Amino acid sequence: MHRTKVRIVEDALDANNTIAQANRADFDRAGVTVVNFMSAPGAGKTSLLERVVGDVPQVRVGVLEGDVQGSMDAERLAGLHVPVTQLNTDPSFGGECHLDANMVRSALPELPLQEIDMLVIENVGNLVCPAEFKVGEDVRVMVSSVTEGEDKPLKYPLMFRTCDLVLVNKIDLLPHLDYDLDRFLYNVDQVNPAAERLLVSARTGAGIDAWRDWLSDVAARSREGAIA
Ligand code: MG
Repeated sequence: MHRTKVRIVEDALDANNTIAQANRADFDRAGVTVVNFMSAPGAGKTSLLERVVGDVPQVRVGVLEGDVQGSMDAERLAGLHVPVTQLNTDPSFGGECHLDANMVRSALPELPLQEIDMLVIENVGNLVCPAEFKVGEDVRVMVSSVTEGEDKPLKYPLMFRTCDLVLVNKIDLLPHLDYDLDRFLYNVDQVNPAAERLLVSARTGAGIDAWRDWLSDVAARSREGAIA
């Protein structure tokens, strides 16, 4: 039984990767850079997007909003006059805790790819499953807020290992927490020394310029074909 179960998981991930490659090819043809944006629930993904999506220089950003249910986040972002497409994993996809390549593929006809240069896919809040499923992205960004504790890179290594940038959010709360920022960064080093890190606060705006610049730089590198 155990062998069978492992095999099924591997097959499912292989099938997902094949669809993810097709998505990536379609995004490339449209000249759209794709960011897979992930975190635990409540880490601040939507707030960090609200801070930047309307004003990345020279880059027209659109958002694909993944949620189990509802469209609260999509409505927040639509108020910024950027194209937002809602993708719910419930009920059409069984309330999954992550987006997979097939779900994103199903949303392709709804995406205004000719009107945008970058698509940020806000994944379902979860530190485990989204890391396993490529969706056709160029880069992966995750948010880890300081309220989650400095041990998270060691407890959820795949999420940290597969991301290009770690946004350390809610740094305005540091004076109120027993959170060891150096220990957190050391823990990131243990699983992914190449990951870039930015210290930010969606609430105060600290570090937001650097976050916006990072997105601008990714779009430029993608245009040059410099992202594998
Ligand atoms: Mg959100």
